[in-house]
Amino acid sequence: MKDIVLEGVGLTKHFTVGGPMSGGRRRVRAVESVDIAIGRGETVGLVGESGCGKSTIGRLLLRLIDPTEGRIRLLGQDITDARGSGLRRLRRRMQIVFQDPFASLNPRHRVGDILSAPYRIHGIEPRIGIDAKVAELMGRVGLDPMARSKFPHEFSGGQRQRIGIARALALEPDVIVCDEPVSALDVSVQAQIVNLLRDLRDQTGIALLFISHDLAVVENICDRVAVMYLGRIVEIADRDRLFDAPRHPYTKALLKSVPRPDPGRRRRALFRLEGEVPSPVDPPTGCAFHTRCPVATKLCAAERPPLSIREASNKVACHLN
Ligand code: SF4
Repeated sequence: MKDIVLEGVGLTKHFTVGGPMSGGRRRVRAVESVDIAIGRGETVGLVGESGCGKSTIGRLLLRLIDPTEGRIRLLGQDITDARGSGLRRLRRRMQIVFQDPFASLNPRHRVGDILSAPYRIHGIEPRIGIDAKVAELMGRVGLDPMARSKFPHEFSGGQRQRIGIARALALEPDVIVCDEPVSALDVSVQAQIVNLLRDLRDQTGIALLFISHDLAVVENICDRVAVMYLGRIVEIADRDRLFDAPRHPYTKALLKSVPRPDPGRRRRALFRLEGEVPSPVDPPTGCAFHTRCPVATKLCAAERPPLSIREASNKVACHLN
């Protein structure tokens, strides 16, 4: 892998929910023992059904929430215990682009104010001045710098996401977590935003963690893809290997719904996904997927398969594959 920019080792996050009025306190196992690393200039996809823990991993890596267990390293430095001003300094290096650009932009602020805020908050004076820097940022993401005096509602959904990306780029971070960045956009606009992110990554060498439930989008932009099920990574592989020859039955089930633009590259032995995701409060024994897996055996219900290397750096957690 290229130089590692951001890394989580053994990341675990449990939340406590409920109280005396709702049947007592229960522990939600949102993320369990996840290892993940993103290299310079690399895009790592994190996919899985809603509630599988992928957004929680993004927030853990950015230190927006504290892990129950595990360590987080940025450019080799352990940042797990960073607090206060030290954590604020780190935030310059790690940014996030949210799913809903409208909700993440203050509707009462003009775009010029939104994009200059990172410099004011961190007390940074760009060499060319804040106004020129804001104009430059807007140009980089394909927005007219003359529109800086407009409010967010005066832009389209795609343009608002460009504003969100420009804000994330303002402090020249090493890594951006993109949390479902195109799922609120029209399909025709999604490709434009994905192309923009890819171009910016190629120009700057920035590392991207791309969280999405849409595998077609992930196939378009990611170099490697991690598939999550009920808080754990069940398969992680290079993009082409994962999409051409998935090994884990859950990956095969997810890919069933993704159309192939080239009919000659058909996927073999894919499964239809049946049933609901079990509760992370009381996950199944053994392999958590065994309650839905069409090829499960007795062993699957009794023993959890470790995430093991199969070939190159590709890993799978399955007794049979
Ligand atoms: Fe299916 Fe068993 Fe593999 Fe789990 S370990 S995915 S239940 S075959």
